[in-house]
Parts: sequence; structure tokens; C-alpha cells
Amino acid sequence: MLQLYNTLTGTKSAFQPLNPEHISMYVCGPTVYARPHIGNARSVVIYDVLFRLLQQLYPKVTYVRNITDVDDKINIAAKERQITIQALTQEVTQQFHDDIGALQVLPPSIEPRATEHIDGMIEMIDQLIDRGHAYVGADGEHVLFDVTSNPEYGKLSGRDLDALQAGARVAVESYKHHAGDFVLWKPADDEDDASSVFDSPWGAGRPGWHIECSVMATQYLGQNFDIHGGGADLKFPHHENEIAQSCCANPGSEFARYWVHNGFLTVNGEKMSKSLGNFITVHDLLQQGIAGEVIRLALLMSKYNEPLDWNDGKVAEAKKLLDRWYRLAESHKAAEAIDSEVLAALQDDLNTPRAISVLQQLPPEAALASLRFLGLLQHTPQEWFQGSDVDDSVQARIDARIEAKKNRNFAEADRLRDELKAEGIILEDRPDGSTDWRRG
Ligand SMILES: [Zn+2]
Repeated sequence: MLQLYNTLTGTKSAFQPLNPEHISMYVCGPTVYARPHIGNARSVVIYDVLFRLLQQLYPKVTYVRNITDVDDKINIAAKERQITIQALTQEVTQQFHDDIGALQVLPPSIEPRATEHIDGMIEMIDQLIDRGHAYVGADGEHVLFDVTSNPEYGKLSGRDLDALQAGARVAVESYKHHAGDFVLWKPADDEDDASSVFDSPWGAGRPGWHIECSVMATQYLGQNFDIHGGGADLKFPHHENEIAQSCCANPGSEFARYWVHNGFLTVNGEKMSKSLGNFITVHDLLQQGIAGEVIRLALLMSKYNEPLDWNDGKVAEAKKLLDRWYRLAESHKAAEAIDSEVLAALQDDLNTPRAISVLQQLPPEAALASLRFLGLLQHTPQEWFQGSDVDDSVQARIDARIEAKKNRNFAEADRLRDELKAEGIILEDRPDGSTDWRRG
């Protein structure tokens, strides 16, 4: 039985799907203005593992992960680079797919683009105005959600409206009734690229970010669906606003039933930021020769809802584990089924660090099957070890030593161990009969 921590209830509980024959999951996808950074990648990889697990446990899973291709950040980046919005969003969408593809992330079932759902957004905004949950601002151009119209507002993030009003640090825009009211539709600027300007009953403009996800989730998964995921930074305001819009537009609906949030990522103990110079993209790492599977495994070494620190030690540890598993793949075939203990760890609120530690104790056949299920060991050992000449020479002598021991030629085995030691290579024999090595 799958256990999930649900932000909405604040508890870990058994996952009870609406329809056990068909699971529905929505995850907030990228805003395509820049290549994904390692924090974005963490979220994508985590929900990819959850998607794989759900597919393992249930007959059918529909996983929707959107592309946000209309947003102020996109307009700013396109202007800076002096290219059209369309050129930018196409380029970055392709880069996103390339980069996360290298991390062995499966495509979602549906990947809707915001710009293809503008009519649905206009329709939902209309419904919200009709039901008294939204209003056209005093400027006659902005449409805003009225947070005071929704008694449930704040139920996900625990924020209360008075605190929002009091905590508004900047002067509240004059067209808003309440500091917490958020934009559903905003007017275009005169200089906006035509591909980011859409006609609406409230004039030419573009939708707010939150309404996109409400519309795309509802269109593909219905007014009630199972799981909504995203980074912890999206809890407020983005997810809180998604709930408010969706439930007020469709009275009696509950929108997502389980809210799953992944934790933050730091780099060498610090928050990642452009100004600190520690901003790492997936592309940077791949360019440095770090394999996509090493990045994937390193991202799974911390539990998804806990903070993860990205550092060289973690990368080296992931590389070492994968090298060892690829060695096993040279001489063993994967079992048919995923190991039950690995599956149990994943079913326990996606406990990937526990799954990884179980994997290290398993017989090779069981480990290999479970690793492939986790999106690892997707290459042949030959492809994996290609180009590492030094490693090949070390491995050749390790293999010769194993052979020597098999033939009870312990003098030769010891000679090989000493020779490697003289080169700074320390050997560690493992209970499964394989030998690990590290530079001492
Ligand atoms: Zn979203």
C-alpha cells in the first residue's frame, strides 16, 4: 500500500485513489525562459520516480506536466536576447527535453502548453466573475481573484488573510481590493511581442500564471483528481491560488486530493543563486562529463521532501555506486521482478535513500532489475565505461585478481593488490564477490 505525505492534511497516510483503475497526477512544469537548473531537475526526477511507481502499482496512470510558455520572465528574456517569444520558448522547451532526457526522465502522458489553453483560461475567469469570486480592477484592465470571497483560502499553506494584508511590504496596487488578491488576467504593454498578447473580453493581454495550471489540470484530469506535485516553493501562492480558482469555478469540487511537495536544493550548503555564482544547470554538469545517471542517482540520495545539498562528494558517491552496478551488469542478468524491499521503501512515501541502501545489499540479479525500474542502468556497461582508460586498466587487474583467487593462486592475487596499491588504488572486496576500488 502506497503511503504519501499530503501537505493538505499535514500527515502521511495511505493513498486512496479516486479510481484505482486509473490514477491521475498533475505536476507544475517548467517556465521555458532558461535551461533547467539542478533544483528544477530534482523536482522533475522525483515525480518521474513517483510516475514509475504508480505505473507499477496501478493499471493506468495519466500524468500531466505542463509547459508554461507565457510569463513575464519569458517576455523579459526574449527582449534581452532580442529574439521573438516563440523562438525563445521553442528553443528552451527543446533544451529542457534534451537535459531531462539525459537524466532518463520518462515523458509525461500529456504535456500541455499554456498558450494552447488561453480559451479555457478566459472561460474559467468568466465563471469566477459570474460566481462573485473575481472582479475587474479599478483600472478596467486587470482581472483579479477576490481572496475574501473564499473562506477556504489559505488551507494548503496555512496563511491567513489578515496576515497577508498586514504583511504587504510594497504599496498594494491601486486596482486591488485586498493585498492578497491575485491576477487572473493582465493587460499587454504596448511593446509586448504579439505572440504573448491574446484577445479577451477585458482587452488584449495575457493570463496570470496560476490560472494556467487550474485550467490544464481540470481539462485533462477533471475537477477532482488524485495527486498534484511541485516544489515546496510553489505551495504559496501558486498552489494555494490554483485550489482557490478551481474550487470556486467548480463549486463542490476538491481539485487535487493529495498535494506532494519536494524540498529545496542547496549547493555546498548555500542557496543556489546567480549572484553567489553557484547557479548550476543540468547542461553545465553534462558538459563537465558528469553522466546523466550520476546526476539522477545523486538527486535521489535524499528523501524527496527533505532538503538536498548538491556537492562534489555526493556526485562522486553516485558515480562510484553506478560504476559498481555496471560492473555487476557485465556478468549478471537482471531478474524479472523488482525487489520487494526496494518497492516497499518506495511505497513508504517515496523513500529513495532507503531504496538505494537496500540496493547495495541485494544479490546482483535483483539489484539490476530494481535499478532499471528506477531509471538507472539504461546503458550497456560498454557504453558506460567507454573512454575511461585508467579505470579499464584498474578493472582488468581486478578481474585478473578475482580469477587468480578462483584458481587459488593467492600469491598472484596479492601481487596484483600490491601493484594497484603502489599506484594509489585501494581495493575493497564485497560480500557479493565483486571488488570495489577507490583512489587512496
Ligand atoms: Zn502550476
